[in-house]
Amino acid sequence: MDQKDPNSYTPAAAAGVTGRIALITGASQGIGRACALELAKSGAKVILAARNLEKLHSVAAEINAAGGKAHTYALDVSSEDSIKSTMKTILADLGKVEILVNNAGITKDGLAMRMKTSDFEDVLRTNLIGAFLLSQAVISPMVKARWGRIINITSVVGETGAAGQANYAASKAGLIGLTKSLARELASRSITVNAIAPGFIQTAMTDELTDAQKSSILAHIPLARYGVDADIAAAVAFLASDAASYITGHTLDVNGGMYMG
Ligand code: NAP
Repeated sequence: MDQKDPNSYTPAAAAGVTGRIALITGASQGIGRACALELAKSGAKVILAARNLEKLHSVAAEINAAGGKAHTYALDVSSEDSIKSTMKTILADLGKVEILVNNAGITKDGLAMRMKTSDFEDVLRTNLIGAFLLSQAVISPMVKARWGRIINITSVVGETGAAGQANYAASKAGLIGLTKSLARELASRSITVNAIAPGFIQTAMTDELTDAQKSSILAHIPLARYGVDADIAAAVAFLASDAASYITGHTLDVNGGMYMG
């Protein structure tokens, strides 16, 4: 980004983010893509990771065309081997990761009484264990640099529970516990660890719901609109910035008021 262009540069939002290296998982679409665009706009060099490399290339092209800097890496967060080998390559190529956004996530909904163990495990492996392993991989470089930001994308459902989502809610509640524990472990090195709990955000994930389900959710949102990916990206950019340097272990609700913890 041209930092002299007042239309593409907001000093307050970018303070502390400019020039940093940020890894965003699940950056091929939806919330992850929006986070990557926003961090790049704030001056970060962004590393886009997900399984679908073709989609990542098109997000990277969008960022690079706007004057940002984006790199792409194929990564399956549900595989420890993939995380280990990709992180090794990323650290060899770029030296460090200063901002980690654990955003990749999946759902495999079903009533608990009929849920297959494999569906429970798959969701935990992607949403929770993947975030743990990636955090583990960046801790050492962050500790050396005595600066870091880990931002975990949890969900309102991790706070409230949801019928039909025992696996997803457990993974997202687990992320909140992981966030608080890492925040305590890493605070002395100026590494903050926070979570963002989106409510209903219009993406491919929520497109799967029926119109009746969507209307019933809307009725419980005091701000009377669905969220958009940019609502979450703005919160990520804030938590990554110097303006949030005294915030750690926090779960930031970005949900239009549908749950007030
Ligand atoms: P989405 O549109 O379905 O995008 C999910 C992203 O995760 C994709 O980029 C996907 O890329 C990636 N992903 C999935 N499995 C992966 C794996 N094994 N390894 C690497 N990347 C993987 O979903 P979204 O709505 O943007 O959701 C993003 C995050 O926000 C998720 O953690 C979700 O739980 C959370 N969230 C969403 C909402 C909402 O209302 N949308 C609400 C609360 C929380 P590939 O398929 O290319 O790998």
